[in-house]
This record gives sequence, C-alpha cells and structure tokens, in this order.
Amino acid sequence: MSIYDFYQIFGQIVFILALLILGLLSTTLILGRILIKENKLIFPKVLLFTLDIFYGLLKKFSENLGVDGKIVDQIGVEVRNKVNEKFFNKVNPHDKILVLPHCLRHSDCEANLETSGLVCKNCNRCVIGVLKDKGEDLGYQVFIIPGSTFLKKIIEENKFKAVLGVACYQDLNLAMMNLNKFSCQGVPLLRDGCVNTKVDYRAVIEKMGVKLEKKVEINRQNSCDKKSYSDKLL
Ligand code: SF4
Repeated sequence: MSIYDFYQIFGQIVFILALLILGLLSTTLILGRILIKENKLIFPKVLLFTLDIFYGLLKKFSENLGVDGKIVDQIGVEVRNKVNEKFFNKVNPHDKILVLPHCLRHSDCEANLETSGLVCKNCNRCVIGVLKDKGEDLGYQVFIIPGSTFLKKIIEENKFKAVLGVACYQDLNLAMMNLNKFSCQGVPLLRDGCVNTKVDYRAVIEKMGVKLEKKVEINRQNSCDKKSYSDKLL
C-alpha cells in the first residue's frame, strides 16, 4: 500500500467517524428533547453513553445549533433520574444521603461551616431546616455543602448506597455522572446562583419517598421568606 493510499483510507475513516459522532450528538439532542417534553425515555444507554463521553462536545454542538447548552445537563439529570429511580426507591432510607447546597440558606443564617459542611441549627428561616428535618426523620443522613470538595469528603467518609441531591442543572448532572456507581436522584434548583436560590421542596420530599396529597401554595419567589418554613410547607 502506498503512502497515498494509506492517507486516503485514513481520511475516509476519520470522515465516517465524524459523521457517526455528529449522528450520535443529533440523536441525543432529539431523544433528550422527547424526554423533556413528553417524558418518554428512549434508548437510555445511547443517551448516557453520549452524555458521559461527549459531554463538552455535545454542549458546543447544541450551542452551535442555537440551543442553550444547559439542555445537555437537563437531559443528563432527567435520564439519570429515570434510569436510577427504581433502584433508588428500593434502598432503605438509612442507606441514603441527602445533599443540599448551602446557597439555599437564609441570608441571616447563623449555621457554622464545618468539615462535613454547614451545621444547620434548624432556626426555621429557610427550606434547608425543613428538608433536613424531614430527611432525618425518614433515616437519611443530610449534608449541606458549599461545593464538590465537600462531596468528595462525604463519599470517602460515609457508607451509603444511594444519593439524593439538589443543585443547579450543571452541578447536578456532573455529580450524578461522577457518582454513577450509586443510585442517584436529583432535584434541580428552580433558581440557581451563589445565594438566595430556591428549590421545589415538594419535589425533594417526594423523591425521598413521601407521597404529598394536596398542593400547598407558598410564595415561591423567595426561598428566604421571613415566615417560618415548617409552618408553611408541611
Ligand atoms: S434553617 Fe436555614 S437559616 Fe436556619 S440555620 Fe438552618 S440553614 Fe441556616
């Protein structure tokens, strides 16, 4: 085989691979949109493969198509939630951990930050206290953390089989990707950022396995409302 033939075959292989990857990325975005819009999970293994292997590329690809790259994280969270749900629900709550982001705390929060995360004093000013109480009542170990360094420490120092986490879509998707040997469930923040974030507490409590009967209306504009949270929520 001449060097010319070699480069020609090599070029063809690269071209075919590029076409296959483009096809995979497009299929993932289409299936992901179906999942988000219609709640239909199709070819979850294909979705997970592309999301895990081509995460950065998929984000760039989607942005080049004029679609916000956040959709990739949203698809990731939705797929992982669906795939893990059955096993997660079978695990005893005593073998589960609940991980909450510290950005949900009230601006007047007096909790101290220790090596395991924020030590909530259950002052009833924010949703963290309510979720912590509920989680601990059910048997969950609850952690309130400022970032992924704390998550690594929690994983190293604690024994558990499943994780329920709350975070923005990107952090949630990446954490669920890294913790794929555990059965993860995630609830995305309704408003993300560094402070004054908010979450649908009903979604978190329902993920914990509690069936809530009637919808209780609360002021969803601000997770740091001055009234007692437990009075309003549960
Ligand atoms: S309930 Fe909220 S504001 Fe109060 S100590 Fe806990 S995290 Fe801080």
